[in-house]
Amino acid sequence: MDRRHFFQNTALVTSGALAGCALPGVAQNKPRTPFAVADTYLPIVGTDELFPVRRIYCIGRNYAAHAREMGSDPNREPPFFFQKPTDAIQHVPAGTVADHPYPTLTKNYHYEAELVACLGKGGKSIPAEKALEHVFGYSLGLDMTRRDLQRAMGDQKKPWEIGKSFDHSAVVGAVHTVAQTGHFTQGAIWLKVNGQLKQNANLNQMIWNVAEQISKLSEANELFPGDIIYCGTPENVGPVVRGDVIEMHIDGLPNLSVKIV
Ligand code: MN
Repeated sequence: MDRRHFFQNTALVTSGALAGCALPGVAQNKPRTPFAVADTYLPIVGTDELFPVRRIYCIGRNYAAHAREMGSDPNREPPFFFQKPTDAIQHVPAGTVADHPYPTLTKNYHYEAELVACLGKGGKSIPAEKALEHVFGYSLGLDMTRRDLQRAMGDQKKPWEIGKSFDHSAVVGAVHTVAQTGHFTQGAIWLKVNGQLKQNANLNQMIWNVAEQISKLSEANELFPGDIIYCGTPENVGPVVRGDVIEMHIDGLPNLSVKIV
């Protein structure tokens, strides 16, 4: 009996407990537990199936003008990634304005408008030429950021997690399949606050395109179906306060809106 077969027939496959499991964290036979924890799903447009979210990856400083406004040199920096917890997702249905809670601890809460690539196939060391075959679909989202805490932690050479990885920090729309939208290599990406244009760029200005991001990320971690990647934000990130309404757009996807409460 090979390992994969063994695990598929094991009653107690629990998250992360058994290294080498074909699908880490996926229980083939659900164990009895003393309490339930939430799974995270996104709607898939055009079907009643849901997209199960495994991990949320985010690339940093992926537009040159944004890298400059964050104080780094876009020409010399290789791509870097961070994660948000999966349950940080706030899904916002198209055509609605969802209440988004202003988080604790910050006095400088920023929006970052981003394309989101949603993987349907995993792999290790995926070549860039093959990487788009791993994309299931796309969405758009906000990488919400406690900028003051991100900066303060960076200044102290501490992890910036508290600035990036907190409840509701991963705002995202529904998943559109590649068959519905094609791949996103260019097209407008913009963000308005209270109707006023704040961010306005083109996806073709990404330093590392979606294929290159998947390829680079898969060198650091084995990727799996359900992983999603926030593909970076253009320049002119900025603060919001309670009462502000954020609307973001990417050509080919329905707009996404939240109200800060
Ligand atoms: Mn970002």
